[in-house]
Amino acid sequence: MSDNLKQGYKASIIIVENDLENLRTLSNRLVKEGYRVSQASDRETALRAIATMLPDLILLEIEISPTNGYELCQQLKAKETTQEIPVIFLNNLSEKIDLARVFAVGGADYIAKPYRGEEAIARIKTQLKLRYLQKQLQQLNVNEIVHQFHPQSQLSLQLLYRAIAATPNVVVIADARVTDCPIIYVNPKFEQMTGYSASEVIGKNCRFLQGTDTKQTGLNTIRQALREQKECRVVLRNYRKDGSLFWNDLSISPIRDESGKVTHYIAVQTDITEYKRMEQERQKYQSSLQQMNLELYQLNQTLHRLANLDGLTGVANRRRFEEHLEQEWRRMFRESAPLSAILGDLDYFKRYNDTYGHLEGDDCLKIVASAISRVVNRPADLVARYGGEEFAIILPNTPTEGAMQVAQSIRQEVQKLRIPHQASAVGDYVTMSLGIATKIPTQELSAKELIEAADRALYQAKEQGRNCAVAHLG
Ligand code: GH3
Ligand code: MG
Ligand code: MG
Repeated sequence: MSDNLKQGYKASIIIVENDLENLRTLSNRLVKEGYRVSQASDRETALRAIATMLPDLILLEIEISPTNGYELCQQLKAKETTQEIPVIFLNNLSEKIDLARVFAVGGADYIAKPYRGEEAIARIKTQLKLRYLQKQLQQLNVNEIVHQFHPQSQLSLQLLYRAIAATPNVVVIADARVTDCPIIYVNPKFEQMTGYSASEVIGKNCRFLQGTDTKQTGLNTIRQALREQKECRVVLRNYRKDGSLFWNDLSISPIRDESGKVTHYIAVQTDITEYKRMEQERQKYQSSLQQMNLELYQLNQTLHRLANLDGLTGVANRRRFEEHLEQEWRRMFRESAPLSAILGDLDYFKRYNDTYGHLEGDDCLKIVASAISRVVNRPADLVARYGGEEFAIILPNTPTEGAMQVAQSIRQEVQKLRIPHQASAVGDYVTMSLGIATKIPTQELSAKELIEAADRALYQAKEQGRNCAVAHLG
């Protein structure tokens, strides 16, 4: 505030004084100070001037003709238009002033003559200031004042403030009207969560909490929300004063004034580090569970393979063969369909081992198993190692002729392998003899009899000179 209290406003003063010398001195001084000054030297002129100009201050000589200043003052105080205008009495230092009377008639102060410049000006300024404030107060909206000082609304504000201070969440308020949205309030929980005191953060933008960890998708979400002046909720990596990381679950909402303009942002923050840690533990546990499940599955597969497949050749083992045979026997019984079995036995294989060694013999068995598997294709068919150098094949829904075709194909496939067998009595290569049996299952028959019949046919094939297939008839 300038000397004139308010920029551009010149306070007006009227001096009511009949000593012209004094009048001039005081007037000049006040004009120099920047006031608008009027003068009156008698009661009537003064009353008229005051009524028309309604000055901000009246300087009133006690000895004013025809009566005195006290009476004039009383008159002014009695009138509604002038009663608020402060009156400073002027009196000669030599004359005793009746202060009780000065105040009784509504005088605000007095100045003794001759004027001691600074003191007089100081007293004048004080009264002008008071007058100015009084005017301001009068101009204020009464409703506003009532609202501001209403005891209930005071209580609510206090309660709100305490509530924000007591909430277990961190509350931060930033000023959207100022460049870079500085923090203007943090509640005590903020200090607990971050280690920063309110005085350290007020005036700063919230981003210091991210430190150098600025490449976070959540930050883009916040930027966009601020641009669109919308609410948003994100989880950010933040850093405490001691540098330690914490996960901050952050909700930001704009606060608008009556015109809808965003003036502030309020952020409610929650440290979810512990929750995150538990979540990570859970995920770790989950993935180790998945890993365990996978290992269990693989183990199961291995067990299944060990239980069902032959370790050397990879085709089904004897146990699996028996199982499959029983299963298909029952199925063919239900369907009254033919079930064929082939037993294949390598010729002179003892001699093969004796000639080439047992390991070579093993390799030969593997190759032969693959060759048989190539020939046997239907989903319900099964190739198994029946034992030693013997293979068994189950062919559901297959009559003798079909089984014979398969057996011949196996025999040829083995022969085509051209595995040298110089000790064989039937040729230069490894060969196989096969016995075939076919049965339509009945109550009286059993799967065992099918295999026995195939075995007898195999015996006949050996008898007939080997490297041939014989079907058991009957
Ligand atoms: P045949 O033509 O009458 O069938 O003559 P064979 O020598 O094949 O008949 P035999 O049953 O007397 O001999 C079977 C031989 O098969 C005995 C063994 O040397 C060989 N053998 C059986 N199982 C295996 C095996 O797992 N590995 C190897 N290398 N040889 C085996
Ligand atoms: Mg044999
Ligand atoms: Mg043999």
